[in-house]
Amino acid sequence: MDSAKQIIRDVPDFPKEGIIFKDITPLLGEPVAFQKTINSLKNRYADKSIDAVVGVEARGFIFASALAYALGTGVVMVRKPGKLPYKTFQETYSLEYGTDTVEIHQDAFRSGQNIILIDDVLATGGTMAATLDLIQKNFENVKVLEVAFLIELDFLNGREKLKDTPIYSMIHY
Ligand code: AMP
Repeated sequence: MDSAKQIIRDVPDFPKEGIIFKDITPLLGEPVAFQKTINSLKNRYADKSIDAVVGVEARGFIFASALAYALGTGVVMVRKPGKLPYKTFQETYSLEYGTDTVEIHQDAFRSGQNIILIDDVLATGGTMAATLDLIQKNFENVKVLEVAFLIELDFLNGREKLKDTPIYSMIHY
């Protein structure tokens, strides 16, 4: 994954001062690097009997849909509030200032399904921790096999928020 690491761009002070934003758009625009990224994830999960890949809005959708297609599974969206049209479950979580909410359709999974969750960046872990709670509280008979990220920012210790769930990050900073 060294080639992917080289191609990801640091954008200082975005979206606010002090944040170094990991910009994945150069990787998405580079056909070989994007294909290698998805193939690497596909190889990791191909023999794990995955039924669905869950993507977290918005950049998570890109990886979730490409990986789901490669694995031949369904894809499920976890979205910001008010975006999903059917009945939803919701989970609200704390941000540095205020709160945010994630939602999922109530019929997103069937009992007994094995799923993985994916997002582009694991930073503080708040979003993925809320996504895990959202799924584990409302879908007791669904098994989260692993949570995957393209990038993990190790210095933020986000993985500590994800408790006992296995975590896989392709690239570490
Ligand atoms: P988290 O702090 O782990 O809840 O991160 C929330 C979301 O913000 C993730 O889905 C990331 O896509 C995004 N994010 C957080 N920090 C960064 C960063 N430094 N670069 C790019 N995306 C980020």
